[in-house]
Amino acid sequence: RAKQQGRGIVCFFSAEMDRATQDRRELERDLRAALDSGEITLAYQPVLSASTGQITSVEALARWHHPVRGPIPPDLFISIAEEGGLIAQLGKRILRIACEEAMDWPEHIKVAVNISPMQVHAGDLFKVVRHILTITGLSPRRLQLEVTEGLFLRDIDHTFRELDQLRTLGIQILMDDFGVGYSSLSYFERFRFDKVKIDQSFVRQMLASQASSAIIQAVVGLGTKLGMGVVAEGVETAEQMAALVEAGCTHLQGYLFSKPLRSAEIKACLLANARFVPRPIESALRVVS
Ligand code: C2E
Ligand code: MG
Ligand code: MG
Ligand code: MG
Repeated sequence: RAKQQGRGIVCFFSAEMDRATQDRRELERDLRAALDSGEITLAYQPVLSASTGQITSVEALARWHHPVRGPIPPDLFISIAEEGGLIAQLGKRILRIACEEAMDWPEHIKVAVNISPMQVHAGDLFKVVRHILTITGLSPRRLQLEVTEGLFLRDIDHTFRELDQLRTLGIQILMDDFGVGYSSLSYFERFRFDKVKIDQSFVRQMLASQASSAIIQAVVGLGTKLGMGVVAEGVETAEQMAALVEAGCTHLQGYLFSKPLRSAEIKACLLANARFVPRPIESALRVVS
């Protein structure tokens, strides 16, 4: 009887796993088709200067509206694209859309595009970026690439050389989600990122956790000494904002100011030269100065 039960359990789990695998396989197939249709779009979230409250750049965030399943979270479809060998094509599309749409914005606004480690390891990102800048006409000074610590898990020397080469184009390289992956301070000996983005988890906990707030201060200190801007992500409350401004973060991003917006919305907002939530920023600045 126990044996039978055991067998039953094994069958149950493997059926579940089959379903999950099947599900991913279906999504992969649909993603392949979505690459040629208009289902992949970008949402844009403003990043503000902590000293002026003005928008200085906008982060492009991929969106997939599946015709049947509705919106699929980017963490999920990006990892499916990586596994299914689709990330090169998807990544190019995303870069191209971001650069094209940024051409409609005021010239002082930069656009930040997230880059998956596989796009860098593929070895042709330099050519891809150069080509997209040429065909869209976007000034390289307006493009930022966000990379994560996962990038440095393999081929570290080769990876830094790729980043060096990319930067000769005149674009900026940002370290995203810093502090939660495989953070090593030695990265900063080898490569001066233009900005470091502190992971949202530290911001979320900073008011309750001394450790989180100490980590934020340490990253700001390091960034300032090395000439790297420090962006706080995931800012949701005025209290967090005030503490982050006081800690010396140079830039702020989060739902407090704006959720990611559709292309037409961000364009209207940038052309109107809107300052998103000026009052909390101004009052925070008054508190500090
Ligand atoms: P990320 O690059 O760290 O992007 C920030 C994520 O935090 C976004 O989630 C954004 O919507 C969310 N966020 C912003 N402000 C707040 C806030 O105040 N509170 C909270 N709770 N969340 C906030 P999203 O759009 O779901 O993207 C998740 C991740 O998926 C991104 O993290 C990035 O790693 C990946 N991703 C998104 N688009 C792309 C892309 O085009 N290419 C690649 N390779 N990865 C992408
Ligand atoms: Mg990012
Ligand atoms: Mg991030
Ligand atoms: Mg993230």
